[in-house]
This record gives sequence, C-alpha cells and structure tokens, in this order.
Amino acid sequence: MTDASGASNSTAGTLYVVATPIGNLDDISARALKILSDVALIAAEDTRHSVRLLQHFGINTPLAACHEHNERDEGNRFITRLQAGDSVALISDAGTPLISDPGYHLVRQARAAGIAVVPVPGACALIAALSAAGLPSDRFIFEGFLPAKAVGRKSRLSQLKEEPRTLIFYEAPHRILECLQDMESVFGADRPALLARELTKTFETLKGLPLAELRAFVEADSNQQRGECVVLVAGWVAPEDEQAVSAEVMRVLDLLLAEMPLKRAAALAAEITGVRKNVLYQVALEKQKGE
Ligand code: SAM
Repeated sequence: MTDASGASNSTAGTLYVVATPIGNLDDISARALKILSDVALIAAEDTRHSVRLLQHFGINTPLAACHEHNERDEGNRFITRLQAGDSVALISDAGTPLISDPGYHLVRQARAAGIAVVPVPGACALIAALSAAGLPSDRFIFEGFLPAKAVGRKSRLSQLKEEPRTLIFYEAPHRILECLQDMESVFGADRPALLARELTKTFETLKGLPLAELRAFVEADSNQQRGECVVLVAGWVAPEDEQAVSAEVMRVLDLLLAEMPLKRAAALAAEITGVRKNVLYQVALEKQKGE
C-alpha cells in the first residue's frame, strides 16, 4: 500500500468502506458480512442504528462513532488504530458511505497516511433508482440534496436547466412536493422524470411521468409524500433550431444581444455567420423566454 508520495505502510491495517442495505437486509453482500465480522473496529455514522443491523447478522465487532460532527477531529483516533495494524470498517446508516453520508475526511486522512482503503460495494439509492428508471444512464450527474430553502433550490435548479445529462437528486419526504413544483417551473412541464420511493422496501414505488404529471400524482396522494426518495430528471435536449446553431454562432448572437434589440441582433448575426435570420430570431426569442 502506498500513499500519493509513494511511501508505504505495510504493517498497517486496512480501511474498508462497506456499503450496507438501503432497506432490504438481504441486500448486504457475503463479503461485507465477512469483513464486518473480521475487522477490529467498525466506524459507524450512528452506533445505535448500526448495532441493530449487526445484531441481526450476529456480528459483535466493537463500534465507534464516525459522523459529520466528529469525523475531522476524531479521524486521528481511527488512523492511529489503523497504523497500529488494526483493520477498520467504515459504514453509514444506509447504503454507501460518503454518498451524501460521512466518511470523506476519514478516507482522505487514511489515504494521506499511506493506509490501504478498500471499497466493499453494495446498495446505493441513486444507482438503484437509475438502474430501473429507463432514463439515459450513459451519462448522469448526482446533485445530492438540493438547498432546503426555495430561493436556493430554484437558483440551483436554474443552473442545471440546460444540463444534458440525466440529473439525480436526493430529497426529504416533507420537501418532495415543493421540490417537484420548482422542477416543473424551472425545467418545464414536459421534461421526463421519475420518482423512486422506498426502494427495496414494502412500499417501493417507481413512477415515471413528465414533471407536471408527476407533481400532480404526488400532490393528489399524501402517501407519496412519505418515505425516502430519489428524483431523476431527464437531461436537457436543445430545441431543433438551436441544435442547428453552433456554439460559435451562439457566441456571436449572445454578444450582439447584449448590445442591441433582439431583431437587429438576429439580423446582424445572420449577416456575420450566414445562418438564416429567422432561425436566429427564434433562437434568440427562446433564449429570452428562458431567462
Ligand atoms: N448513502 C446513501 C446511499 O448510498 O444512497 C444515501 C444516504 S442519504 C443521507 C439518505 C437519502 O438517500 C434519502 O433521503 C433518500 O433521498 C435516499 N435514499 C436512501 N435510501 C433510500 C431508499 N430506500 N429509497 C429511496 N431513496 C433512498
């Protein structure tokens, strides 16, 4: 095992980053169970929560807290144990550690100290949702939780309006309706979307609809405003006319739009670039509507 500078720490233990289930306990892997039984210590986001999981599988490994409030300061304690030769498993309350969960600082500290960090993959809500959503999965971005307040949320969504990759968000149930309302107003009523709720659990629901219909579905049924959820939204597809306009032509049009009225800008941009005036006029109109 080597750190970034090539130094190695061959007597140290290993930090295992272990995924745990997001609902259905059968989703834990045989390898995860073996590692959780074999390590000297389990660093857990919430020890009271994780003790129930471990008891279920008959695992008695000692637990120590590693959560967002102590991770930076207490990280050294885990590093000292690892350097002394003990292996440690890092787990969060559910799913994959570090994915909207603690662990980042500990992993960084361990790697900097030349300690081997080994992933033990398993459940992750965003990947489970994407795998069954039927939205483009070749390129996607994970945005985690949106800001809780409306102004921040809308501003973040506006930044993502023309993002062509599939968008994935985590959301708290008490904010799901507001979140879908804001998505509808920013991304448009027709943008395909999917709500993945209570994945792997009894009331698992995957509902794929255009945003306005999805918002109406959730609004009409308060059960849809409960439980854990992932929201996926299809990426932006440029209108056909805009697709025909290259980035360079757009740059010219944007520069002119900043200096003169829309009609004049479209006419002048057409003269400069050779693209039809009507096409540029429509593109400029669309752009202004979206701003
Ligand atoms: N580390 C976890 C993972 O790998 O997915 C995520 C932890 S984050 C604190 C919790 C959020 O993940 C929830 O608010 C929800 O958005 C999503 N989530 C977790 N479990 C889920 C489930 N069973 N169904 C749907 N979403 C879930």
